[in-house]
Amino acid sequence: MKRLFSSIVSALLTCVVMLNFTVLPSSATFAASTGVEGFVERAYNLMLGREAEEAGKNFWCEKLNNKTITSAEMISQFVESNEFQGFNIPNDEVVEILYNVMLDRASDAAGKDYWMEFLNNGCSHRKVIDGFAKSTEFQNLCASFGIEAGSLVMTENRDMNENVTKFVNGCYKAILNRDGDVSGLNYWTGLINSKEVYPEELVYGFIHSNEGLVKIADDATYINTLYKAFLGREAEEQGFNYWINFIASGKSYDEVFDQFKVSTEFKTLVESYGMTTKPVIVKGDKLICLTFDDGPYSPVTNKILDLLEQYDGRATFFVVGDRVKTYESCVIRAEQLGCEIANHTYDHKSVLTSLSGSSVAWEISGCNEEIYKVLGHYPSIMRPVGGAYNSTVAANVGLPMIIWSVDTQDWKNRNAITTANAILNNAKDGDIVLMHDLYPSTAEAMAIVIPELAKQGFSFVTVSELAEAKGYDMVAGEAYNSFK
Ligand code: ZN
Repeated sequence: MKRLFSSIVSALLTCVVMLNFTVLPSSATFAASTGVEGFVERAYNLMLGREAEEAGKNFWCEKLNNKTITSAEMISQFVESNEFQGFNIPNDEVVEILYNVMLDRASDAAGKDYWMEFLNNGCSHRKVIDGFAKSTEFQNLCASFGIEAGSLVMTENRDMNENVTKFVNGCYKAILNRDGDVSGLNYWTGLINSKEVYPEELVYGFIHSNEGLVKIADDATYINTLYKAFLGREAEEQGFNYWINFIASGKSYDEVFDQFKVSTEFKTLVESYGMTTKPVIVKGDKLICLTFDDGPYSPVTNKILDLLEQYDGRATFFVVGDRVKTYESCVIRAEQLGCEIANHTYDHKSVLTSLSGSSVAWEISGCNEEIYKVLGHYPSIMRPVGGAYNSTVAANVGLPMIIWSVDTQDWKNRNAITTANAILNNAKDGDIVLMHDLYPSTAEAMAIVIPELAKQGFSFVTVSELAEAKGYDMVAGEAYNSFK
């Protein structure tokens, strides 16, 4: 506590306008103040090191009282304020301040290390505040002031998946010998989250950038760089020597790169970080899209995911927006298995052909936002309710519309054998199969269909992968039944 305040004081003393500021020695001083006002006064004291001015206090009290912000959001806005930023407080002391203001105690060593990792790996203070906001300690503190803790919505790509951020920042350090800058981290984590860039492509791009190329002085530097960027570790002697000899035998740098790219160690790391490597699709394969509408619904969706995982397949899930939060864990799991999460309207209440253009747009953006909140990226395709569209829908949907070429009628027959036969009697390369991950019979049908089609040589790919493999460039507002 003393160390914390002495550092704020020294920061303030360099700040001319703040010379008359009063040090308040401990949180006990404000224990008498209660309610929203007490919470706000305490934040001013502990975070800005001063009493709240009347206008400022009223401003925050009003926002908290009418619930336009949560208490966690207020703390985040204090940290982002010019006044706080002007103190130039180092990260470890910012974390200490957050412990104090949000958990009402000094940090413990293990906890502080844990949160410092987030900041050192490139996440923002807001990510740490969100973590604190979810703790029982913060909930209890807020309760003692009679206010709600609330939560925070992450607004930057670098905060959507801390492991992706760690990987990207690791590439900055390994290849460019520096930490990622905020705009760079947000740019690259956004591209990886949306799978526009895959992790191995990021490594390749960084190495071949102007900034990266000049850092590769010799074979040894190249090998050490690949170890750190791909595997997040130093080379062991045996491995290092192997690659030195590999290059000495006449192999190119790109051949070394390609071996790292397909290594099990890299793939394991990528998966443990919730990322995927670029799917390999050979044109002319037997490719098929299994698509599931109206979910997610974890009891069924997870059974389908188990089968896909077992047969190294991927499917596309056209999710209903207002179900996503409830079943977010299976949405995240599907994404991590390389499946595609796509838009099937916010609430699935109406066929889109019965709606105005603005209502169509509302249904689509509502679902897009729910997906973004969980996955950190927007979907790139949608399916209209019942497959129904007209010119108003096409003009307002803003995404390619994916229909189907094989209709299982699984929602009507609710029979695993009937559903399975509908697929097995019709499946051809380039087909898109319509199902619904709501019915146990559909999951049972998949237990028949997936092993059988795999035996016939089919690969189970997502809609976007199929379109790419068949050379289609999908256009927003256009409808597609299959890709052949
Ligand atoms: Zn539907």
